[in-house]
Amino acid sequence: MADQGVDALLLSVGPDLPWLIGYEAMPLERLTMLVVPVDDLPRLVIPAFETARVVEHPDLFAIDGWEETDDPIQRVVSTVGAGKTIAIGDHTWSRFTVDLQAALPGTSWRRAAEVVGALRRVKDANEIEALQRAASGVDRIAAALQAGDIPLIGRTEAEVSSDLGRRIVAEGHAKVNFAIVASGPNASSPHHHPGDRVIQPGEVVLCDFGGTTAEPHGQPGYCSDITRCVYTGTPDPEFAESYALLQQAQAEATAAAVAGAQAQRPDRVARDRLADGDLARYFAHRIGHGIGVEAHEDPYLVAGNEEPLLVGNAFSIEPGFYVPGKWGARLEDIVVATADGPRPLNNADRSLAVVEA
Ligand code: ZN
Ligand code: ZN
Ligand code: ZN
Repeated sequence: MADQGVDALLLSVGPDLPWLIGYEAMPLERLTMLVVPVDDLPRLVIPAFETARVVEHPDLFAIDGWEETDDPIQRVVSTVGAGKTIAIGDHTWSRFTVDLQAALPGTSWRRAAEVVGALRRVKDANEIEALQRAASGVDRIAAALQAGDIPLIGRTEAEVSSDLGRRIVAEGHAKVNFAIVASGPNASSPHHHPGDRVIQPGEVVLCDFGGTTAEPHGQPGYCSDITRCVYTGTPDPEFAESYALLQQAQAEATAAAVAGAQAQRPDRVARDRLADGDLARYFAHRIGHGIGVEAHEDPYLVAGNEEPLLVGNAFSIEPGFYVPGKWGARLEDIVVATADGPRPLNNADRSLAVVEA
């Protein structure tokens, strides 16, 4: 904060607060806000009757419970004072931000990401361990999918999606963040919403799923995110050929995700490889996103991002091709940049699995 010229950091709903103190604000109309002055003990302004939810660390932050008729905005205002530079959490609701802005004239407002972003994007050993547990959990689900243990043919995408969701929770996650199941032509929509379509024999089924791990009370959860494609029967030869190129592109992009390389490098590598099969024009999105307490966070692996990947960065490598109205595929792993090179946390089989049921 001192480096950034920030006098106070204000964190409410969103991932920064649990990442910092292990407490997740109730996303409701009553204000919860951690006030972190640059030179004083942080103070958690919180509805008094919710203080029992907090794991206390009196050495790290004070708890300031407000009663139902108190004005919590005023609590924050009096702690911070006017005329300062304040960094406020990116996910803070406008209703609070607008009230704070009105009550603190002369303040210079910044985004909390300018302070916590650089810290959050470099994962320490405990965070990588949590991401590994998350990844191993969804790897086991992918293996079940590839082994045919999750029936597909004759069932709707929505039914398969809820199966995936149940398994995500059974594999140590507190919540499901998404469970995309896109079959046949629906696989050409990267963020397809699983619906009533009944899965047919002889088509691709793209499954992209993940959640946030369950951790002991007072510790933040970390996210998983994996995509695997299976084919219900013998794959169409053209699809199989495209998928083989995708798998090669994903492997090469992963190998290119070394610390020190520009964040856009893996995207370029995959795009160049997909161009060999005239598939680059169907690769409609960036190759990856950072992952941690948020499913999508910095760094973003996208054309134009010249910032270097750092040791401890965790991100997805997920090239795809999406041929409108026809089919699509994506292959996604979470990878950590280490001093010894890129290390995939997901290791489920990356080939196109054939399932008969
Ligand atoms: Zn996505
Ligand atoms: Zn995904
Ligand atoms: Zn992803």
